[in-house]
Amino acid sequence: MKFSQKLLLWTTIIIALTLGFSGFYFVNYVFETSLEREAGQALDENSILRFAFETAALNVPVKYDLLQDGTVEQIASNLESSGQDAGRLLRISDEGKNVLYASDGFEADGELLAQTEEDMYSYRVIQLGERYYIQTSSTVNALDRVLYLETLRDVSQVFEERNMGYTVYRRLTVLMLVLGIVIMYFIASKLTQPIRLLMDATKKMAEGDYSHRAQRVSNDELGQLTQDFNHMAEALEETIDKLEDEVQAREDFVGAFAHELKTPLTSIIGYADMLRSRKLDEEKSFVSANYIYTEGKRLESMSLRLLDIIVTKKEGAKLQKVSTENLFEYLRNMFTPNESMEFVYSYEQAMVLADASLIQTVLINLLDNACKASEPGSRIEIEGHVKTEGYLFTIRDYGIGIPEEEISKITEAFYMVDKSRARSKNGAGLGLALCAEILTLHNSKLEIESTLGKGTTIGFLLQEAGKEE
Ligand code: ATP
Ligand code: MG
Repeated sequence: MKFSQKLLLWTTIIIALTLGFSGFYFVNYVFETSLEREAGQALDENSILRFAFETAALNVPVKYDLLQDGTVEQIASNLESSGQDAGRLLRISDEGKNVLYASDGFEADGELLAQTEEDMYSYRVIQLGERYYIQTSSTVNALDRVLYLETLRDVSQVFEERNMGYTVYRRLTVLMLVLGIVIMYFIASKLTQPIRLLMDATKKMAEGDYSHRAQRVSNDELGQLTQDFNHMAEALEETIDKLEDEVQAREDFVGAFAHELKTPLTSIIGYADMLRSRKLDEEKSFVSANYIYTEGKRLESMSLRLLDIIVTKKEGAKLQKVSTENLFEYLRNMFTPNESMEFVYSYEQAMVLADASLIQTVLINLLDNACKASEPGSRIEIEGHVKTEGYLFTIRDYGIGIPEEEISKITEAFYMVDKSRARSKNGAGLGLALCAEILTLHNSKLEIESTLGKGTTIGFLLQEAGKEE
């Protein structure tokens, strides 16, 4: 059963029970009060009649001071038809509780009479046919006799009113229920709207539509839940996108890796086959062996670089205060100006937060790339400056440059703009991938600017020590 239907059902049950019980209680309360009032009046009437009987008895001429049964009948008949309430129902019985006189229609049994003692009033409610009466009973002291006087008061009206009350309440309950159900139907569907929207959203997400968001339609707890759900969906979408990118990157990597393995292996296998299957002269043997050696070396350097990337990823960086002076001194010693390249250094001294050996690897790779891209005798500028965002390293060359559409790809593993050129320079296309990995550990990234045929500037920022946020 749906939540809105449950809400509707319980509301209906509560309305029905509340109206039913309150109606029953109210009608019954009115009925009891009316009946009590009627009983009071019936008893009053009884005592008036008793008094009238006793007075009448005193006034009858009697023989031997004894009230004859005939006289009693006479008085009773008079009382029955006299006064305003003529036609009242009464019954007179003697000391032995034998009926002396009874009005027409006085059909009550003798049960109440049997219980009546001297100087005692009692009453009960009885049903005769379709009508209801209050039967009263008392003793009458007329001269020397003790007689019993019983009256009947018609209270059918009170019962009819009670039945009418029940009918009215039943109708009211049905009306209120119908009204309540209609109103509650709208309220329930309005209240459960956020739940339905959330259900739709979960279903869509389960079907793979991670971009779907639930609409927030209220400001209560359900609205908050919708907002939290949307935040969760956002986080989930981001994670899934990231995972998909990672899977894609891994597939690309494996594809590129297999391809990069294939090229040197094909050469190695081809030359090795030639060496073993034919007798070659000394020069050809040397050329073949040299191919096998250089391609083997390429494979070795590729596996070493791959290992570097894996180890860097796994071990992370140990960031410490490092002097930029030391970093540049290290580069100066490795890349000294010579006749084939002109290295120009310009830097400010500062302390940066870095893993020194990893940053040295980055700088060496960038300088190596700059050398490979430049003609002999070109100028390469190595700079380090303090900026507001951190310490900026830049390596600028005036070499071949990179086509604009390829700039974003050169940090991918095995990506080389010109494969044969890169391979001829013993490149594996892994240097910048390693740099990017290292810089990620330093919360930084490579900024590349390049113009084809004019040169390339690659830079990255490092956080200055003592200026951590
Ligand atoms: P490896 O560094 O693994 O020995 P590689 O130098 O070819 O090989 P990366 O350093 O990753 O690989 O560079 C990827 C590619 O980006 C290079 O092959 C080259 O085409 C291009 N590239 C990198 N730096 C420059 C640069 N300064 N000028 C022009 N092209 C560049
Ligand atoms: Mg390189």
